[in-house]
Amino acid sequence: MRSLVPLGLVFASIASAQTPVVLRPARVFDGQTVHPGWEVVVRGSHIERVGAVGAARPAAARPAGARVVELPGMTLLPGLIEGHSHLLLHPYDETPWTDQVLHEPLALHVARATVAARATLLAGVTTTRDLGTEGAGYADVGLRDAIAQGIIPGPRMLVTTRAIVATGSYGPTGAPEWSLPLGAEAADGVDALTRVVRDQAGRGADWIKVYADYRWGPAGEARPTFTEDELRLIVAVAGSSGRPVVAHAASAEGMRRATLAGVRTIEHGDGGTAEVFQLMAAHRVALCSTLGATDATAQYAGWRKGVDSEPARVEAKRTMFRLALEAGVPMCFGGDVGVYPHGDNVRELELMVEYGMSAHDALVAATSGNATILGLDDSRGALRAGLLADLIAVDGDPTADISALRNIRLVMLGGLVVREP
Ligand SMILES: [Zn+2]
Repeated sequence: MRSLVPLGLVFASIASAQTPVVLRPARVFDGQTVHPGWEVVVRGSHIERVGAVGAARPAAARPAGARVVELPGMTLLPGLIEGHSHLLLHPYDETPWTDQVLHEPLALHVARATVAARATLLAGVTTTRDLGTEGAGYADVGLRDAIAQGIIPGPRMLVTTRAIVATGSYGPTGAPEWSLPLGAEAADGVDALTRVVRDQAGRGADWIKVYADYRWGPAGEARPTFTEDELRLIVAVAGSSGRPVVAHAASAEGMRRATLAGVRTIEHGDGGTAEVFQLMAAHRVALCSTLGATDATAQYAGWRKGVDSEPARVEAKRTMFRLALEAGVPMCFGGDVGVYPHGDNVRELELMVEYGMSAHDALVAATSGNATILGLDDSRGALRAGLLADLIAVDGDPTADISALRNIRLVMLGGLVVREP
């Protein structure tokens, strides 16, 4: 993923604002279904028409002056929507998380994040929900805005700023007599939680992220942090400002409380039981399984994948993923990318398929599924007239082999070509 396209070339466009572009791939995946022999007409920043080549209205299908782009053998599909990224972190085998939080200057975080954002976009991710700056304050707000203003290339971002943790539960930790800067913002009880939710919203958060549990048990195990009442309060205060809540939760009890409190998505889910997944399914709470993060951190800890037998936590991840699928939980595509390299987002989709999901269903999760889960389905995640022209083309058919998503040939963001065949 070291395709360091010169910045001046990144926004080179094959379409001026009003010249329509007709994209002719071998097949179109519209977010749900594969259509061989379809084409897509883009005008300006939006999709004008999707349908069979030369169908009913040939004049409409081929607008005068249109530029036709042939994409032989390729699948054209909506740009991918990543549900769980950290553009302000970089892989932990380069620098451990604690050292990133405590020792890296804010400007270094941001400079790296601009490179991460470009790598993410060139890999076909046109929208990402970024779940916490982990010590980089509110830098995600400016990063989001710089991308939206066309100053730097990157995916459209939904941001959460600092995220909220219970006092005593989060890190980095040092000797007990020292209070170290945390990777998130601590708050407890009615007054402080109300204030912090409102403060993060006011500073630019699109979503509110809360840690419903953390590895702070007496033996270092995941245990609930906030009470169910505290979680309900967070959801109510965020909700009245129009913001949904996302919960980190890896224990069954943390997941249960977060689900009943009304969060929209749960991240990780490692200790999820059949019962708690049934509860999530009943409440339509989605799971971002972050298989990629577990797979990566196990390897950083010495696991030789494909050589050694699987560590217990990787086996547990396989088990919980199967239970979630069986319960009918809405499945988010969210890998915790940043723990592993930005631009390698497809790793999560490959693991979802390896752990039992069909390639077709994984592709739905990465497009229309995440659009629905994130409340964006009125603007993206599908190919139909009127939606944003956030499109990608790949060699091969990713509904047959999800790794075809690695063969990126074209990336279009709001009608601008940022990667050309
Ligand atoms: Zn994360």
